[in-house]
This record gives sequence, structure tokens and C-alpha cells, in this order.
Amino acid sequence: MKSRYLAVSSFLLLASLPLHAAPKSPNLATAKVIDLSYAFDGQTIYWPTSPSSFKLEKLAFGDAPAGYFYSSYAFCTPEHGGTHLDAPIHFSRTGRTADQIPLRQLIAPAAVIDVSRKAAANADYRLSIDDVRDWEKAHGTIAAGTIVLLRTGWGPRWPDRKQYLGDDTPGDASHLHFPSYGKEAAEFLVLERRAGALGVDTASIDFGPSKDFIVHQIALAAQVPGLENLARLEEVPETGAWVIALPMKIAGGSGGPLRIVAVVGD
Ligand SMILES: [Zn+2]
Repeated sequence: MKSRYLAVSSFLLLASLPLHAAPKSPNLATAKVIDLSYAFDGQTIYWPTSPSSFKLEKLAFGDAPAGYFYSSYAFCTPEHGGTHLDAPIHFSRTGRTADQIPLRQLIAPAAVIDVSRKAAANADYRLSIDDVRDWEKAHGTIAAGTIVLLRTGWGPRWPDRKQYLGDDTPGDASHLHFPSYGKEAAEFLVLERRAGALGVDTASIDFGPSKDFIVHQIALAAQVPGLENLARLEEVPETGAWVIALPMKIAGGSGGPLRIVAVVGD
């Protein structure tokens, strides 16, 4: 009798824990899938110092001599532009390359932290540790492995370079203004909460004026990749979504084009 009582009471304890303790995964058959990637085209935004941008070269388009239709293209792109992955080796000599990141780290529950109101008042806003604490007060402790998505409200500015980056001078990255993570918040999310990845709807996991890219240094040294230039974070709920973030599998790559979706159950 006593052991049955213990079993029942521990079941009740488990049932009363916040969802984060054991995040339910959405049913893929019925879930809503939100595309968080921008298409790659001539408008795709690259870092101002990038030597080139996305190129799509037509190799064939039309009727083949044998009678069938045939089209084919060649593409060329720097790794870091558009919706893309920053692999740990991007800022860490001992970091994993794009092809080495465990897939489980890229398929995980999401926590969306919204700072869009503060960023609207200050384009150089950085996520603070108090913002993270406030989120946890409302939604529960961020579980290890969570993919954190920072919603700054910058998404609708894409693909206007001046609006999105704060400056559109070619070759000059010294006058950029856009919001992102702050150092203490990044340390807390990466080292204390053991986040699986840090994503953002701006061009960088460091804010525009950054010169030392300290958030890149912190996250990538801990083998936590960055997910940059994410689209449509407005549509992703603060909790309950799962993220599937699959980069192009470039052997030895420091990052690369990323197809990322949020999966939201009912
Ligand atoms: Zn990058």
C-alpha cells in the first residue's frame, strides 16, 4: 500500500512540473510549419564586407534535343549571408564545422524571447539577463538543449539593407545598427541554461555596433551554433514550438545556407 501511495504522489509531482521539464513534440501530421528562411536571390543581404553575394547562373532552360524539358543552374555564395548557420569553428579554432554539428542539437524545442518593443525604441538594444529572467518567470526555466530565438521585430525590414543593417555603405561594417544578444544574457543562456543554439531575426548574434563579437566568441567556443537572418519570428509562439534547422552540409564549413522551420502543434 505504501509503495502504491508513493507511486501516485510522484506521478502527481511529475504532472505538475511545467511543460519545459519534458517538452511535448508536436504531431508532424497535423502541426503548422512556419518557414523561417528567406529565399536566396539577388536581394539577399550579406555582411557589408562580403566579397560577393548570391549568384545563380543558368546552365540550361528549355527543350532538350531529345524532346523533354530541362533546366539546371549553378549557384555560388559566401557561407555567411541570408538565412544561415554560424558553425562553432566560425569563431573558435577548436569548434565543430558545419557538417560536424550533431543533428539532435539542430532539432529541438524553441524558446522565443521578444524584445521588439525595447528594440523599436533603441536600434542598438541588447538582450539583458533581466529579459531572460522575466521570460523564465512567465514560462518556466529554459531547458538544456533549447533553441533560443530572439525576436527583435527586425524581420519586416528585410530585404532593405539600410533599414535592416542600419547602414548600406558597401564594404563598410563600422556604422551598423541593429539589436541582438548581450554578453551577460549570452553567457547565461549558453553556460548556465546550456541552450542548444542561439537564433535571431537580425544579421548577427552580436548587435550592430559590436567590434569584438563577444556573443559569437562565447557561444561558438561552447559549441553552440548561431542561426542568423531568421524570417517570420512574429509567427512563432514564445513556447511550444519545435525548430528544425538544417544547414547545407559543407565539409569543413564555418557555416552555410540554412533551411529552418518552426513546427507548432495545436
Ligand atoms: Zn554568420
